[in-house]
Amino acid sequence: MADTLFLDDWDALTRERDTRFSATLDRVFAYHPFYKDLLTRARLRRRDISGVADLVKLPVTTHKDYLANPAGFVLAWPEAASAEESIVWDVMHTMQASGPPAPFVSTTYDFLNILALNRNMLRLRGTLQSDSILNLFPLTRHPHGAFARAMNAAAAYNIPVTAAMPGASNARQPDIGNPLDEVVAIAARSCATILWGVPSYIRKMVARAEELGVMLPHVRLVFVSGEGFAAAARSDLIDRLKRLGAKEPKISVSYGASEMQGGMVECAPGTGFHNPAPDQFCFEAVDPDTHKPVPDGEEGLILLTHLDRRGTVMLRYALGDVARLTRERCPHCGALTERIIGTPRRTGGFVKIRGRLIDPQVLSDALAGETAVADFQAVVEKEEEGDVLSRDRLRIKIAPDGKPDETLSRRLAERVKTAIGIRPVIELTTAEDPMLAVRGWAMWPLVDLRKKKRR
Ligand SMILES: [Zn+2]
Repeated sequence: MADTLFLDDWDALTRERDTRFSATLDRVFAYHPFYKDLLTRARLRRRDISGVADLVKLPVTTHKDYLANPAGFVLAWPEAASAEESIVWDVMHTMQASGPPAPFVSTTYDFLNILALNRNMLRLRGTLQSDSILNLFPLTRHPHGAFARAMNAAAAYNIPVTAAMPGASNARQPDIGNPLDEVVAIAARSCATILWGVPSYIRKMVARAEELGVMLPHVRLVFVSGEGFAAAARSDLIDRLKRLGAKEPKISVSYGASEMQGGMVECAPGTGFHNPAPDQFCFEAVDPDTHKPVPDGEEGLILLTHLDRRGTVMLRYALGDVARLTRERCPHCGALTERIIGTPRRTGGFVKIRGRLIDPQVLSDALAGETAVADFQAVVEKEEEGDVLSRDRLRIKIAPDGKPDETLSRRLAERVKTAIGIRPVIELTTAEDPMLAVRGWAMWPLVDLRKKKRR
């Protein structure tokens, strides 16, 4: 079969997509509880949609639709369905800013596609057959892909992986879970060439290796996803890795989505986030209000359509971010696929503090620009706990990188005030602070504690 990442032109890719999407539509019209209902209400019949070109006729699906009834997004196969298509292989969870995580079902058929897309992600990121991975993702309460992805990607690429299992040891199984110093030791003895994990944890691990005098000379790539990673933090990490003996370490950022069970990746810094499996996913950018398509290169709400899934299936699903999309062939690697150029911005999730609407991303960017900050968590709460009439307070817990100088708190408060117009209370803590240590992979920079307090 043709390599669908590097086809000759968009006509060829559209033909490949339409074959899969047409079969998906047959199944959606027959077995998809949510869309069967939605398409009937929108007065759309199967013959009205012939291929991806007709996607624009379909309404946009939102987080809210999905969270209200995740089971309604799973194909309800008849008993006679093929085993491969209908057997549940795993259930991962999509992490939300508020509300419980939503289950995302993959069948045996889907899992093979997930391996193929993870293989393409590694290929785009420049992984070699001589590489080996250090998986620095912790175990989480809900399985959501990160830990499993690093294991599965290594399997799909036939290269070694070492899982460092960071996190507190499990009381029931004390041999599982390693403190930071043990993770540093594992990193050294694995001789891994690729570090893969949450950026703040990788920074912490690399800083500790430096303190302990442990060298990591084999590292040549760092894979990060799940959090914004500002340019200053990137170059800081590269400098640190060089001091640990790494020759030319590179950082590869991905735009991950549980709804893909993978992520869009850069082939080189600044080349944009590539859709790694154009035969499985179609991306669009639309006006956030009117949902009309925006021209390529203009900012729009990013929509994902599954072209070839058998478990959870989503059509024109808004991932919740606004970004610029291009369909031009990548000038660097030659891939013909959608790419997100620039940094996606999260929509919604705005928090009102003292009557002012705050974008958590702006707060996050302001703090990410300060390399003396290893990690942070911002909370908004009431000045008087339990008193809903008292003033809002923005409190930011900071885990400094090394010993903080005495002006750090003042400097950070000033930065935040300039960025969002509210002066925060800065509280210095350590990376072991439960609020920072237990939040896991899905990071929400600003947590609202006002609603959770009892009167
Ligand atoms: Zn490329």
